[in-house]
Amino acid sequence: MPTVLLVEDETELARLVIRELEGAGYAVRHAADGPSAVREVADSTPDLIVLDWMLPGFDGLEVLRRVRQTSALPVLMLTARAEEIDRVIGLEVGADDYLTKPFGSREFIARVRALLRRHERLQEILAADRAEGTTTLNLGPLVVDPSAHLARLDGEPLELTRTEFGLLHLLLRNKGRAFSRAYLHDAVWGEPAVEGDRSVDNAILRLRKKLGDLGDTIETVWGVGYRLSQPKGRGP
Ligand code: CA
Repeated sequence: MPTVLLVEDETELARLVIRELEGAGYAVRHAADGPSAVREVADSTPDLIVLDWMLPGFDGLEVLRRVRQTSALPVLMLTARAEEIDRVIGLEVGADDYLTKPFGSREFIARVRALLRRHERLQEILAADRAEGTTTLNLGPLVVDPSAHLARLDGEPLELTRTEFGLLHLLLRNKGRAFSRAYLHDAVWGEPAVEGDRSVDNAILRLRKKLGDLGDTIETVWGVGYRLSQPKGRGP
């Protein structure tokens, strides 16, 4: 049974939403302010968060920021009409969907279901990304052979750590696709990043250096993370 964390300080609305969610077959946890929401995410690792914007302690946006440092958990944000301008900020910080108050119960449950389904598909992709491929891949003068765990640049072996190799292999076999730092950490380190963790950025820095002229094929995607692109001035 998927667990939904409801973060809502209005008692009456919270009561209604909990009833709807339980009626639809979800287990529900409830937090009524920012700090306890963040604690609850860490303690009970829910499958989805329904997050009200205006909260005591700190607001939903701050909850979202903190959660997003370590987790790609789906988040459905609840907002009042007057806060419309904030939606843009929320999307940038990483909410997955929005619902404007007041909302109908059918619409609400449909959004929750859709988000959980989408997340499930993402998890499947993530599992596939973790699985070791065996095909040798090329990028200009770079050859990556996963079965031998070996990378060569202009014929010379590259000395890469296990995580550097994992990152390079993941980016290379998904050329052109942008990955978030949280996703890369999950896929390559095999566990979620802890708050303030810079392992992905540091590994990317080292990787760029080791790749020499090819280093700039690992692009920073603003507000997202990283992507591997085609080397400039070379064919596919
Ligand atoms: Ca509120």
